[in-house]
Amino acid sequence: MTENEKKNKELAEWLGICWHEPIDMRNVMVGAPIPICSKCNHNVIDAHRFNTDFTSDSGKVQLLRLMPEDFFGVDQYGRIVLTVDYITDKTGKLRDACLEWMRREKG
Ligand SMILES: [Zn+2]
Repeated sequence: MTENEKKNKELAEWLGICWHEPIDMRNVMVGAPIPICSKCNHNVIDAHRFNTDFTSDSGKVQLLRLMPEDFFGVDQYGRIVLTVDYITDKTGKLRDACLEWMRREKG
């Protein structure tokens, strides 16, 4: 697993999003029914392909929707404040900031 995947996995698990490991097909019996993940409904053979990459545009939107409000700054009008850098960046700045915050919160 790459460093990037490790970070995505840690955050996904904390946010309660599925994270699937690739399955070794040699351990799957021929003809056996393919198990379905009860959380996301993907069959578990393909599910790892749908793991969230929090550095992608869709992954960043997911973070904006799922991170607790405390993570974000709030302005004098109670509106959520977020640096544009976090959205335009493609290297995982938002993901890493979320991860750092989450690790601090977990203690
Ligand atoms: Zn799942």
